[in-house]
Amino acid sequence: MKILCIGRNYVEHAKELNNQVPTEPVIFSKTDSALLLKNKPFFIPDFANDFHHEVELVIKINRTGKNIGAQFAHRYYEEVALGIDFTARDLQAKLKSKGLPWEKAKAFDGSAVLSKFVNKEQFADIQNINFRLDKNGETVQKGNSEDMIFSIAQIIEHVSQYFTLKIGDLIYTGTPAGVGPVAINDRLQGYLEDEKMFDFLVK
Ligand code: ZN
Repeated sequence: MKILCIGRNYVEHAKELNNQVPTEPVIFSKTDSALLLKNKPFFIPDFANDFHHEVELVIKINRTGKNIGAQFAHRYYEEVALGIDFTARDLQAKLKSKGLPWEKAKAFDGSAVLSKFVNKEQFADIQNINFRLDKNGETVQKGNSEDMIFSIAQIIEHVSQYFTLKIGDLIYTGTPAGVGPVAINDRLQGYLEDEKMFDFLVK
C-alpha cells in the first residue's frame, strides 16, 4: 500500500507557514513504515528538534483505479479516518531551502498516525465534516472539510492521473491551521465530529 498526502489544502494553513495558496494539489508520499496505529505512543526521533502535529481527514481506497473522474471518485472509498501527518518542521525548512524533497521530514517511521475507520455513510456530506485535535485537553486544531481548497473528489481525480490507486491505499487530505510543536508527555486526542478517534501520548 501507499500513503499519499496533500499539502497546503486549507487556505489558513498555507498562510500560517507563509506558503502560496496552490492552484493544483501539492502531493507527497509517506512510506508504509510511517504508519502509527492503535493509539501507540509517538516517540520523538532524535534527527530534528521541532516536530509538528498536522491533523487530517484520511480516506482509504477500496478499489483499483486510474484516471478517475471527480464525478466517480465517491465509488473509490467507503471509509474515512483521522490521522496526524507528523512533520519535522525544522528539517523540512532546511530541505525546502535547498530545493530538496521532503521525505526525510515527512515520511519517517511513526509519522503517519492513523485512527480506526468509520463508514462515510454516517456523515450527511463528506465535504462538511468537523474534526479537531486536542493537545493536553485543549483544542489546538479545528477544521471542516468544506474548507478544503481541493475536495476529496478533486484530489482523487488529480492523484490518479499519476498513481494507480489500489485497495488499502491511504490519502491524507491536508491540515487546517493551528499546526504546532509536540513535546514529551503531550497527550493528543482527535475527534471526527464528536467521536473520539485516537488518543495517544508523545514520548
Ligand atoms: Zn499534512
